[in-house]
Amino acid sequence: MTGAGGFIGGHLVRSLLEDGQSVRAVDVKPLGEWHQLSSEADNVVADVSLREAAFTVAADARVVYNLAADMGGMGFIENNRAACMLSVLTSTHVLMAAHEFGAQRYFYSSSACVYAAEHQTSSDVVPLKESDAYPAMPEDGYGWEKLFSERMCRHFYEDFGLQTRVARYHNVYGEQGTWNGGREKAPAAICRKVAMAKLSGNHDIDIWGDGEQTRSFMYVDDCVKGTRLITDADSPEPVNLGSAELVSINQLVSIVEQIAGVKLARSYNLTAPQGVRGRSSDNAEMVRRFGWEPSITLQDGLERTYKWIYDEVAAAR
Ligand code: NAD
Repeated sequence: MTGAGGFIGGHLVRSLLEDGQSVRAVDVKPLGEWHQLSSEADNVVADVSLREAAFTVAADARVVYNLAADMGGMGFIENNRAACMLSVLTSTHVLMAAHEFGAQRYFYSSSACVYAAEHQTSSDVVPLKESDAYPAMPEDGYGWEKLFSERMCRHFYEDFGLQTRVARYHNVYGEQGTWNGGREKAPAAICRKVAMAKLSGNHDIDIWGDGEQTRSFMYVDDCVKGTRLITDADSPEPVNLGSAELVSINQLVSIVEQIAGVKLARSYNLTAPQGVRGRSSDNAEMVRRFGWEPSITLQDGLERTYKWIYDEVAAAR
């Protein structure tokens, strides 16, 4: 698994190990920076954007999970388009290695950022279905790389018979992820801000945009479960993996305030990166294939996430 030192990768490694699978966990970051480090895994530090490294780590893999990407929340991807697009080297070399060594399966973590902004202009959203990705006009930079790499998976399946599987993740959150430093996503950033307000006694919060932009957020345990279902199933067609529970950012803040037992004065930064106006996942295809869709409520997932981030913030202070 590439990107194993990252947020979702760390949880996925743990899930596979719990099932008794043997896992080679690969990430470019030094081991001390991995979000989770499982001693039972074969942990390897390697830059799989390089062909040689990708071919070395994937050589004897039965299943290749490619989660490595240079990415972050809106604040990162809107300001680092070239870096995001360079993940195409990783996506390409790991896919080539899986094909070269005859892996039985190749999983690729795509994103809801493959969908065109024109479908996401209102906070009162029509959930995005898989066919909405075409005609293509994805999020600039990051989304184009994801759509291109999805497309490569399709052609490796069609031309070489590699069993590729693609999930389009929608906003994943949970413990053991990035919560500060500029790459964090909205749920982690809001949990951090609320925790800091609580710990400092300074009861203010700044919110990116007017807070009325809407999203759905998937707790990481649902992401891991869905990833494994998609990998083990038959279809190479990309499928949404996201929650259908739509909230505005203001509502998200209110839930975290209620969990923390605090009420904050809100100020709105209208020039900060905000992404699309509204986005949610249409899960009809997921339900059709698996009779399952992400179901952990935002309330439950945020209770666990806030507690973990609060402890991290307190320890950092
Ligand atoms: P993350 O940033 O926590 O993890 C990605 C990991 O990939 C990082 O640890 C990074 O060091 C590693 N990496 C980057 N370049 C590498 C390279 N050249 N060689 C080896 N490792 C490399 O991100 P995440 O949230 O865990 O996301 C995992 C995957 O899911 C990514 O592909 C991401 O684009 C996709 N995704 C995530 C979300 C989300 O909400 N978290 C949404 C849509 C798609």
